[in-house]
Amino acid sequence: MVGQQAATLAHTLARSEHPRGGLLVDSYGRRIRNLRVSVTDRCNFRCVYCMPAEGLAWLPKGDILTYEEIERLVRIALRIGVEEIRLTGGEPLVRKDLPELVRRLASLQGLKSLSLTTNGYLLKEQARGLAEAGLRRINVSLDTLDHEKFYTLTRRDSLPKVLEGLAEIERYPQVAPIKINAVAIRGLARARCSRSRGWRGASPTRCAGSSTCRSTPTRPGPRTMC
Ligand code: SF4
Repeated sequence: MVGQQAATLAHTLARSEHPRGGLLVDSYGRRIRNLRVSVTDRCNFRCVYCMPAEGLAWLPKGDILTYEEIERLVRIALRIGVEEIRLTGGEPLVRKDLPELVRRLASLQGLKSLSLTTNGYLLKEQARGLAEAGLRRINVSLDTLDHEKFYTLTRRDSLPKVLEGLAEIERYPQVAPIKINAVAIRGLARARCSRSRGWRGASPTRCAGSSTCRSTPTRPGPRTMC
């Protein structure tokens, strides 16, 4: 979570530190148990459905919550009923020392699940640090195993590096499940899903296949979070 929105939410949640109201609920009265925390708006990919090929004004550093502020936000969220935290971006692994944030959050009382969504590009280098810091679940966004299509979709020639990252995180059994996120794109999804289920690095007990596939428009649109 970045910028003014995060600051506003932190303020709103902070006022709940001494709640009269108790648990966090949505406008339908349903309990909110999950919180996605975007740690950066930056990304090392340029997926066609997410960002323009060139140029984009990143948020000023001063608008982004520090790790201390994120920890405080999460502490407050846990007090009012949140149980699961997902770290996301942009691409969260481009944020410096992300394992340090994982370490801070993993030890918080009441947190039942701490997960990360990543494009996998920096996973090989950071897998060990994340696992040892306490990460327990991970989703890797991987739309295709076809090199050409991967390049077309992400504008980066990085499929081998993502696969190396997946293989590396498999070495840490405490991080489970490892899930693959795939954006369903008309004309591409059917072949892609059947091939993705054959991802060689996945053991049947740890890979949930494409269970978190999301449907998204095929044309470039406003920036979304990975
Ligand atoms: S979809 Fe994810 S990996 Fe692709 S550009 Fe957006 S944040 Fe980056």
